[in-house]
Amino acid sequence: FFVHLFTLMNVRAEDENVTFQWHIDDSLPPVMKLDDTKFGQIVLNILSNAIKYTPATKNVICQIFYAQEQLVLVVKDEGIGISEEEQQRLFSPYHRTDDAKKFEGTGLGLAITKGLVDLMEGQITVKSHAGSGSTFKISIPVAPPTAQDIADAQAPASDVKLAIKANP
Ligand code: ATP
Ligand code: MG
Repeated sequence: FFVHLFTLMNVRAEDENVTFQWHIDDSLPPVMKLDDTKFGQIVLNILSNAIKYTPATKNVICQIFYAQEQLVLVVKDEGIGISEEEQQRLFSPYHRTDDAKKFEGTGLGLAITKGLVDLMEGQITVKSHAGSGSTFKISIPVAPPTAQDIADAQAPASDVKLAIKANP
């Protein structure tokens, strides 16, 4: 699942000549009960923004780890940044900063992302300064797998929905 997403993102980053690094941490449990469609959409929106709003030759770093029963995604870019007053409006539908208007977009990605994060009872935060990059952090509560979850995941006819394998 991650490998697929990151391949997609690598291609996009290469197109834009942005250096894209990702770190999937060993702390991830072997299986997680997680809505992978929702989580995939969240990752896609945040990463595509980071790549879009970062100039060529700069870096985007994406980190995924598991801590305090939360799946955490941190995406750090060296892009155009977002001023403090704009940060509060980012998640409203159709809101786009003036700096962003020379890039294509509808202003819906983050509103949708926030909606999905809320549905998954998670949190999304942003740290940024105008002109000096942004860091988005998303935390989603995910219970640690039980022995039964792991056994179910290995059973071929399991109807348990499996989202992520840490080391595919
Ligand atoms: P789309 O609907 O295609 O995603 P969009 O990227 O403009 O369009 P959002 O993803 O909702 O819309 O982001 C809203 C606004 O937040 C952007 O227009 C931009 O002003 C700002 N923004 C989001 N991510 C970043 C980022 N990584 N760096 C700088 N500005 C950002
Ligand atoms: Mg977007």
